[in-house]
Amino acid sequence: MTTIGFIGLGIMGGPMAANLVRAGYDVIGFDLGAERLAKLREDGGRAATSLPEAVGEADIVITMLPDSPDVEAVALGEDGVIAAVKPGTLYIDMSSIAPLTARRVAEAGAAAGVRTLDAPVSGGEPGAIGGTLSIMVGGSDADFEAARPVFEALGKTIVHVGGAGAGQTVKAANQLVVGGTYALVAEALVLLEASGVDGKRGLDVLAGGLAASRILELKRQTMVDREFTPGFRIDLHHKDMGIVQSAARAAEVSLPMAGLVAQLIASARAQGYGTLDHSALLKVIENLSGR
Ligand code: NAD
Repeated sequence: MTTIGFIGLGIMGGPMAANLVRAGYDVIGFDLGAERLAKLREDGGRAATSLPEAVGEADIVITMLPDSPDVEAVALGEDGVIAAVKPGTLYIDMSSIAPLTARRVAEAGAAAGVRTLDAPVSGGEPGAIGGTLSIMVGGSDADFEAARPVFEALGKTIVHVGGAGAGQTVKAANQLVVGGTYALVAEALVLLEASGVDGKRGLDVLAGGLAASRILELKRQTMVDREFTPGFRIDLHHKDMGIVQSAARAAEVSLPMAGLVAQLIASARAQGYGTLDHSALLKVIENLSGR
């Protein structure tokens, strides 16, 4: 039986670990939150009391942590994944982090004989629960093929997009398009309503034409209703826009829309909307017009 050490059992990692148990893996998890560990036990996994305990006997390690510094600490720290695993272990980071950090982890792994992949996901909590995530993978062909059965237990669209860090670059591009689309749908809704047109009916038409998007399809009703329960928090999207901007700087490209979207999301956060769903960008666009 293949043993998977799973670090970070939050909104995404919790249900992902449960799906791996369901797929027949022996899952040993670790999280800083006791209630997250209790949930893993309920789901049929084993709970470790420390990071080295979770990864020391694992054949595969997965991390699903908030941000780049968290992955750096867990992967590269003194008692971290790369120091604590058996040689030849496959380490897959599925968090959304900076491509530069992913490459640093890959280099440290290569130096220590640990195989690494960066494999961030899209699809949110429903995708994590349903095992329908989109997974974008950076790393070698051989490591991707070795990890494929694990990815198939977690997602539906699984694409090997390039070498180390490439998965994170694709995720950054994804977050840019998602943030920009929310900003434009919000502006369209404000324009419709301020002009005396029914917002829902207007967006219904947009959803059937060239302006169609998954965001219009799935979120237009909740945006019209001003229902901003997360989903994906503004705070996390703020982190992701920072990643987009640092990736753009590293690639020496100018992305003006990325700058604008990042500032709108920063404003949402500054106005106290950080824990709301990222569709709450609508509140920022409304505030700009005093509505
Ligand atoms: P979360 O905050 O719910 O979960 C993170 C978990 O990591 C927490 O349970 C926390 O206790 C744990 N943790 C943090 N530091 C740790 C450490 N040192 N050791 C052990 N555990 C530690 O976050 P989430 O929503 O599950 O997101 C995780 C990642 O997935 C983020 O990078 C996020 O951007 C990305 N993501 C989230 C969504 C979403 O819809 N929530 C969608 C796609 C991608």
